[in-house]
Amino acid sequence: MIDVLSDAWIVSALAGLVGLMIGSFLNVCTLRWPEDESVVFPGSHCPKCGKPIRWYDNVPVLGYILLLARCRACREPISLQYPLVELATGLVWAGMFSYAGLSFEALRGALLLTILFGIALTDARFYIIPDQFSLGGLVLGLGLAFLPGGIGALDALIGAVVGFGLLESVAVLGKWMFKKDAMGGGDIKMMAMVGAFLGWEGVLLTVFMGALLGSVIFGPISYKTKKLVPFGIFLAAGAAVTYGFGADIIDWYWTNMLHLPPPQ
Ligand SMILES: [Zn+2]
Repeated sequence: MIDVLSDAWIVSALAGLVGLMIGSFLNVCTLRWPEDESVVFPGSHCPKCGKPIRWYDNVPVLGYILLLARCRACREPISLQYPLVELATGLVWAGMFSYAGLSFEALRGALLLTILFGIALTDARFYIIPDQFSLGGLVLGLGLAFLPGGIGALDALIGAVVGFGLLESVAVLGKWMFKKDAMGGGDIKMMAMVGAFLGWEGVLLTVFMGALLGSVIFGPISYKTKKLVPFGIFLAAGAAVTYGFGADIIDWYWTNMLHLPPPQ
């Protein structure tokens, strides 16, 4: 019993460390991909003074703390976003492997949630969902569907087509009704990715929850400020909730709203 417990702890701790490093890379991706910059060259450097960051200052979270949140070269403050993104990603990976154990499902969930996190960050900051997240994630989702515990190739493919088709229809309809782009191409590609991970039912639930969250939270702000709604954030949140609780929500809906046995 104690062996199993400690093994599980070791797996979660290692996954957490991997997550911290992926979070560090995610920081770079979310800042450079929207600007069409390479994530490899140049190496990490201070955005204020341009000095390269030494590897020991670049250790996730720890580097930030040991530097007391200031660049070693110019002493300008380092954004709190760096350690927060690293910490959040680390927690997601530790949590997934603690919940699902050392399994492909843990990997699938951790990758999906990391991609969704990246999308939320870039959409919030740049109003852009980079193709590396959406199309790269689509390829990843289709590939992972084949693995043990995956949703299966056919379900992933149907999910991707439904995700793309649904949002494309909304975009065409919105353009026709409002005479301007209501839905970005990034959202459409993103939902193809979500469909590959979560299937067509997951797409419907994600869009429903994304629209709900978006109108409740951002509707009033958007109405006042006339700002563009970064809908990708809400779709990302909706997809994350769908990944975690979608099966339960869909079961509940069939049983209590349709009064039918849930589909298998
Ligand atoms: Zn600096």
